Amino acid sequence: MTTTEPEIVELPQLAVHWARIRGRLQAEVGEVEYRTWLRQMTLAGLDGDEITVTLPTRFLRDWVSTRYGDRLSALWQAENPAIRRVDIRVGGAASPVPALAESLTAPRAQASREAPPIRAEITLAASAPGNAGSVAPPPGSSAWAEERAEPRSDLAAPLDPRFTFEGFVVGKPNEFAYACARRVAERPSSQGFNPLFLYGGVGLGKTHLMHAIAWELTDRTTNPVSVAYMSAEKFMYRFIAAIRSQSTMEFKENLRSVDVLMIDDLQFLIGKDNTQEEFFHTFNYLVEQGKQIVVSADKSPSDLNGLEHRLRTRLGCGMVADLHSTTYELRLSILEAKAARAGVEVPVKVLEFLAHKITSNVRELEGALNRLVAHANLFGRPVTLETTHEVLHDILKAHDRRVTIEEIQKKVAEHYSIRLTDMSSARRARAVARPRQVAMFLAKQLTSRSLPEIGRKFGNRDHTTVMHAVSRVTELMERDGTFAEDVELLRRLLES
Ligand code: ADP
Ligand code: MG
Repeated sequence: MTTTEPEIVELPQLAVHWARIRGRLQAEVGEVEYRTWLRQMTLAGLDGDEITVTLPTRFLRDWVSTRYGDRLSALWQAENPAIRRVDIRVGGAASPVPALAESLTAPRAQASREAPPIRAEITLAASAPGNAGSVAPPPGSSAWAEERAEPRSDLAAPLDPRFTFEGFVVGKPNEFAYACARRVAERPSSQGFNPLFLYGGVGLGKTHLMHAIAWELTDRTTNPVSVAYMSAEKFMYRFIAAIRSQSTMEFKENLRSVDVLMIDDLQFLIGKDNTQEEFFHTFNYLVEQGKQIVVSADKSPSDLNGLEHRLRTRLGCGMVADLHSTTYELRLSILEAKAARAGVEVPVKVLEFLAHKITSNVRELEGALNRLVAHANLFGRPVTLETTHEVLHDILKAHDRRVTIEEIQKKVAEHYSIRLTDMSSARRARAVARPRQVAMFLAKQLTSRSLPEIGRKFGNRDHTTVMHAVSRVTELMERDGTFAEDVELLRRLLES
């Protein structure tokens, strides 16, 4: 398409077609996929026989045009046979959206379901820096950087299309917080759930749940509500900007006109007394008006030292729900869900290995998986335990737990059902000697001990004996697949 103006006269008709096409696509691909990839398409115009559809980032553009390009063309042609081409490109919102309106996600239901007006989607895939996403572009790729660096002129935070309830994996550590979030999304401002206070460590899903509530509420078709979501940091910047431009009244009014106010990472307001004060008043006003407040922080209200006492008290008045550290089971479910969504086959063994190994938080876990997936896509190689070790070398090293020679001896003895004392005994029977060699081999691989040191731990053997064991095991692993798998398994057990 050239820079010719779209034929405005035809827009109402186009809008009807577009709404129908979107509806079809949504029905075909399902809600989750639609939200993740297609929801942000904007109809930019018609030029001759060519329709232009824009997406906010290059990554989304590429994804949509490779996966859905043909389908989009077919659907357009079905609506209007005169249309020959669909041009999918990167583009911003069709019309500038006023600053605060960006955070106040307008209810959808005001438009008829059949033919919503063409409007600039005010949500963007970009998330806060450091928020690695589930099916995000692979970390490190240019698309990834682009999405993250998406410059936003306004101070309001856009919602991440991946942070929905559907995309949230529920397990013991987060089921309570999840249930509360669901409840608020279904029936905001109900007794006992206002404010909803979500807290927990980094990367455990607080922001995810908040966005999920916001998505749910803005997508409702009955009783639409306006939602303002922003980080406490943004809240402060907006407040300061308002003071500077002498528009605090407007700022207050705008904030006080929402049905649901969500402030993420409230701990940021510690020590920011004026902003805290402002938040406190807004908070009280909204609650009095029967509006819902959702707040997140890294600690419980009572532990947020440095936050004004009266604010802490108020925050603790509704529902306080914490997100606990993940368990192995939850990590595994999350990995399974995300791998399935990424559409790359990842062996269960690899997922189990990652769930064992990367225990810090979900963000890191996702980051590791994303990297594996990107690698597999890039080189067209299947994901295996071996490639996992290779590709995630640095991440795994950082998570390495120190394994001791004693642990290795114990595990190996157990595995081969020999006595622990045989690790250092002089017995040379194959049934004992082979496991001993395996243990030496693993000691060399998994610890930083020198050959003489290892020898000493195995009944004062010479370093040449250890050397021999290492080369013997290596050789056997090459020849005997079953033996190799055995050793590999032991190594994984020890590393986790
Ligand atoms: P927080 O705000 O608590 O620091 P986030 O909500 O940003 O954490 O979560 C970090 C990343 O982990 C996000 O990409 C999020 O989608 C993902 N995540 C966290 N918990 C879950 C979960 N239970 N299921 C799916 N993804 C999750
Ligand atoms: Mg967060």
